Amino acid sequence: MKLATRTTRYLGWSLLRGLVWLVKLPIIVAIKAVHFWAARPLLKDALVCRTCRSLISLLGSWQCGVCGYSFYGFYFARCEVCGAVPPYLECDRCGASTMNPLIFG
Ligand SMILES: [Zn+2]
Ligand SMILES: [Zn+2]
Repeated sequence: MKLATRTTRYLGWSLLRGLVWLVKLPIIVAIKAVHFWAARPLLKDALVCRTCRSLISLLGSWQCGVCGYSFYGFYFARCEVCGAVPPYLECDRCGASTMNPLIFG
């Protein structure tokens, strides 16, 4: 009788763990989807400002905030000299900053 209750309890735990996984899995998938969605603007050459919703071009001439190296190209690209990646981009319309979607995750 004791063994039977232990087995039932074990089965109950396994069932509970399975249920927790069933609940967790869609959440994990959703988080991954959100991260993918957040990184998606990087595939384009413009980013939408979080504050005023205007398009900020990511292609142009930029200066590295760490070493001051000037380059022409993609804003969130790694600096060729010091390897720094800009953590945010300032909107030239409203002045507010928008996070780098790659670091955001
Ligand atoms: Zn803006
Ligand atoms: Zn640099």
